[in-house]
Amino acid sequence: MSRDPNIITRPPRLMRAIREAMAGTESVQERLDDFVDAITEAMKVAVASIYLRRPSGELELSATRGLKKSAVHKTLMQPNEGLVGHVVQTARPLNLADAPSHPLFSYRPETGEEKYNSFLGVPILRGGRTLGVLVAQSEAQRVFNEEEVEDLLTVAMVLAEIIVDDERIGGTKGKLKGITLAPTKPETFEAKTFASGLARGLAHLHVPPVTPDNLLADNVAAEEIRLEDGVAQLRASVDAMVSGEAASLSRASKEIYETYRMFAYDRKWVKRLREAVNSGLTAEAAVERVRNEHRARLMKSPDPYMRARLHDLEDLANRLLRALSGESLSPGKKEIPEGAIIFARDLGPAELLDYDREKLAGIVLEEGAHSSHTSIICRAIGLPLIGRAEGILDRIEMGDTVLLDGQSGEIHIRPVQSRLDGFQHRVNIQGEVARAYEAIRHKPAMTRDGRHVSLQLNAGLIVDLPHMDTAGADGIGLFRTEFQFMVAEFMPRLKDQTELYQKAIMAAGQRPVTFRTLDLGGDKILPYMDPVPEENPAIGWRAIRIGLDRPALLRYQCRALIAAAANRHLRIMFPMVTTVDEFIEAKALFDTEVKRASSLGKTLPNKIEVGVMLETPSLAWSVKAVCDHADFVSVGANDLMQFFFAADRDNVRVADRYDPLHPASLSILRFIASGCQAAGVPVSICGEMAGRPLEAACLVALGFETLSMPVTGIGPVKAALLELDADKLNKLITPLISIESRLSTIRTHVREFCIEEGIPV
Ligand code: PEP
Ligand code: MG
Repeated sequence: MSRDPNIITRPPRLMRAIREAMAGTESVQERLDDFVDAITEAMKVAVASIYLRRPSGELELSATRGLKKSAVHKTLMQPNEGLVGHVVQTARPLNLADAPSHPLFSYRPETGEEKYNSFLGVPILRGGRTLGVLVAQSEAQRVFNEEEVEDLLTVAMVLAEIIVDDERIGGTKGKLKGITLAPTKPETFEAKTFASGLARGLAHLHVPPVTPDNLLADNVAAEEIRLEDGVAQLRASVDAMVSGEAASLSRASKEIYETYRMFAYDRKWVKRLREAVNSGLTAEAAVERVRNEHRARLMKSPDPYMRARLHDLEDLANRLLRALSGESLSPGKKEIPEGAIIFARDLGPAELLDYDREKLAGIVLEEGAHSSHTSIICRAIGLPLIGRAEGILDRIEMGDTVLLDGQSGEIHIRPVQSRLDGFQHRVNIQGEVARAYEAIRHKPAMTRDGRHVSLQLNAGLIVDLPHMDTAGADGIGLFRTEFQFMVAEFMPRLKDQTELYQKAIMAAGQRPVTFRTLDLGGDKILPYMDPVPEENPAIGWRAIRIGLDRPALLRYQCRALIAAAANRHLRIMFPMVTTVDEFIEAKALFDTEVKRASSLGKTLPNKIEVGVMLETPSLAWSVKAVCDHADFVSVGANDLMQFFFAADRDNVRVADRYDPLHPASLSILRFIASGCQAAGVPVSICGEMAGRPLEAACLVALGFETLSMPVTGIGPVKAALLELDADKLNKLITPLISIESRLSTIRTHVREFCIEEGIPV
């Protein structure tokens, strides 16, 4: 269908009228009025109206030509009321020849619309949100043709951009009275912290936005050619993904890429893009429009499979936009400015790692989840990440100053000077605190009553290793080996695994490193492994359960660990063990690998310790029995607590319903610590709670002598423990956590204790 771009093809008549309407510098209200005038004239209809959604969801008649002007800003419809409401609900155009006889028709006398028969309503969509509805009506009973529907959809897109652009700059505050387009420049979003920390930086949009200036095509033929070229590049890159790497892909991974290919070659998708360009949009705007339509529909779909497909389509649309902007689609590091804060709808771990870590200051996502791979990696590398910042992409511009407050979960956009100063003050305090931690870096964590506590690091990637020295950690108490698998595009080879483990052991020097064998399954899905759909993945086929049922991967990993620790000390532990037999079986599997290495004449580790992660209540009640077989026990408090309280740790609705400082959880932790001590087996605890000073103080009081935590916890926990009299705290805790206790947390008691004792918590 390529045309000669030198032949100027004028955009359709309606688009020309719209372009003229946009050329003026009037207020938004005047522009809306110009739009409805242009629509009535170009489409030869009697009525054109714009309904915009208020924050409450109601639809307000905001401009009209043909209905009574007196109804503007007066007529309000419920979001599900009438034909206009129906368009909002379905996010699709509604095209009727005889509107008044439609069962949903709702007559508003103040508008005088009873005499109009035909009705064409299209949603004003942006980013999956429906901002309003654009309506054309005429007296004659007729169905609007496809071209007219297309044209109106295109106008709706232009409108959406104007509305959002105006919201963003706050330039016409109050001019569209009733519709809060008011927020002026500085804005604060309250969202969810998925990786903590304070960051100040400049906004960088993962996908560059389409702005009103580049919405309308000057030359339709030239845009058609750009679109065709972009689609061809996209297809070539997807073909390369499928064919080039297919040999080394698992079936599931091939399926994912095949799905991409299917979408990239989907005739309907490309047809929709072409139609959008033909209606007068630029190629970028066409991609955006079709994406908005898909988003609005798929997000409403009750079918989780369909909703999941949205992610693939989004990814494809992003790639196409990148191709259109002239960016290469082959993988490689992306250019970003120093101190960049990335804004995206969602971000996969591979996309995150495409950015130069040195220049990244933080991440903001409209979606995201605490348990997502990206969140896990951000926590591991100490990069603040705030997610669920709904609608933020509509409000941010490339290069805006941004403050990320990973303590409160707030994002401040274009902050005023006083906020900047206050934030800077906190950053400085953090710096001072960091310097204070620096001063105690080499001090052993000894409590006032003489208990020595080993503070170790939770790690998993190469980038974590230097933290051992900078934070002054006593070793790595939890090396999450699955991270390497999660961030890789393909299954890491034996050599890659061995190299990583070796690096960790070398970086630790004389300090211990405890490798946790693969904890896959549940939410930790590998792109190259067949997904197993499960009703309750957290209590499904995961971790050691997979390792025992399909031992090849686990044996392979054991091989890598044995090789990496040649002539060194090797500590390994198995996750999600529920029964003693499971542990015995896993240990036997490991022993077979040691024997194999020995029979092949390989150099063995000079010391081997095989431990168990205690993360299930059932194993807590078998603590003594498992101690007969394990060289050490490490309590995985994150999982233990989710199973103990029956509250999915990744479900925002339930994850915070309990406090780990509940008497019941503290008494099970004491039971475990005492059981191990009685058996003479070292016990440690890893998981988020060990990295919080208040919780850490309690854990030490309960008898734990090794705590493993994220890097950010080491300084604060050490500072607290140096001032702690663990025995005194134990005396306070003991009666509070008895089985008679009615408390749902002892946090306040412990906090007061710490304040009195001068413990920094
Ligand atoms: C835990 O469950 O406490 C733990 C440390 O393991 P993960 O968070 O990786 O499940
Ligand atoms: Mg766990």
